[in-house]
Amino acid sequence: MIYPDQEIMEWVQQTPFVDTHEHLVEESMRTSGVLHSDFLPCNDWAYLFRDYVTDDLVLAGMPVFELQKFFMPDLSGEAKYRLVAPYWARVRHTGYAQALRHTLRGLYGEDDLTAESLPRIAERYDETVRPGFYAAIMRRANVETCQVNSVERIFMESKHPTLLPQDLSILEFCRCSAADLDRVETETGNRPTSLQEWLDIIDFYFTTYGRKAVAAKCQIAYSRALDFAVVTKAHASRLFLHHIGQSRHALGPDDLKALQDFLFRYCVRKAGERDLPVKLHTGHLAGRGKMQLARVRDNAADLCRLLQDFPDTRFALMHIGYPYQEEFIALAKHYPNVAIDMSWSWIVNPSASVRFLKDFLLSIPAEKIFTFGGDYTAVEPVYGHACVARRGIAQAMSELVGEGWIAREEAPEVIERIMRGNALRFFPNQQRTDAAYPHGAEMDTRSSYQKTRRE
Ligand SMILES: [Zn+2]
Repeated sequence: MIYPDQEIMEWVQQTPFVDTHEHLVEESMRTSGVLHSDFLPCNDWAYLFRDYVTDDLVLAGMPVFELQKFFMPDLSGEAKYRLVAPYWARVRHTGYAQALRHTLRGLYGEDDLTAESLPRIAERYDETVRPGFYAAIMRRANVETCQVNSVERIFMESKHPTLLPQDLSILEFCRCSAADLDRVETETGNRPTSLQEWLDIIDFYFTTYGRKAVAAKCQIAYSRALDFAVVTKAHASRLFLHHIGQSRHALGPDDLKALQDFLFRYCVRKAGERDLPVKLHTGHLAGRGKMQLARVRDNAADLCRLLQDFPDTRFALMHIGYPYQEEFIALAKHYPNVAIDMSWSWIVNPSASVRFLKDFLLSIPAEKIFTFGGDYTAVEPVYGHACVARRGIAQAMSELVGEGWIAREEAPEVIERIMRGNALRFFPNQQRTDAAYPHGAEMDTRSSYQKTRRE
């Protein structure tokens, strides 16, 4: 066993991440404190548990009704602590919890959540959430920019577009559920009455936001397999009319799949025309009690047809397809249009991610991997996840150098590539930026943040 080499760890610490995947809400939602049942159920330290420690707490036996209480906005900090403490002790070594512990240590100066540290953690949480804290935390985490797949909008016109470049979500267009139609209607005022009208709406989004978006993003793997067949427009038109009609008979699963197949390929074509890379969720599912592992297991194999049919469109396959990451190495090894994204994977399984990175770098050009994305709605845990990822990258690189696979003098270039350079090259609308931090504001932010820490 080789532990991270000091010099390699130093290189990894100094290299900024270009973060390729977060779901951060706009900073103004956090600072306004206006709660939202989905994205901001409470605005206190418990919020930091939401992605993804909650999943582990339930696995460790915490009843769901207690978890719901834990996120209530008006429950006292002491009561919340009493709810979570027995389960926190059981989950503290998982990747999810390790990331949170790094966050508590690095941002709040507390080694652990205990009855004694709780009041200080609660206070630090409140002190931290103030205008400019996103930039301040990203700077502390040495994260240059975060690509955001907004949970609030199909495309978020962010107030901080350089710091938080945005994905255009195509999930709503191709999943096409009643909620998706509602969302589009809320955003555009349009409700389609035919497939063509739906395609016009999709075109509108690509025309309006395509130049600003960093990628087209889709997590339809949460609800279906990734085998997208070729379906004719005439057939899809008939299915669409039935789907949106008042008929009491909803589309059966095969027909819904065919409609989604058509819409998904339509969106991929649109993205390709604009040279927008397509990001796809693959592998493990967040949440609890719903994952169909047989479907997840087929993600890599299911994608081959699509990768072949769109050779000029670049695909970023996310989360290493865990736990089937070897198959994703095979895809990246064979298809020139595939890159692999390690977002989320460092905390889903840190040691598997170390092994994956080693395997990847010995079999595939180092150009085809992005090594960090926190996958959070809150910005604070990005700090802790970045610590876990840096530890893992340093571990993998140390082993590769120690075992003689990569020369020490080559390591800095590989590290720069996989943490930063690849993402800047792969995503054409990702601005290369020293201007990511609006400097006047950033200096203010940093000093106010440091002031917070001293107080
Ligand atoms: Zn995500």
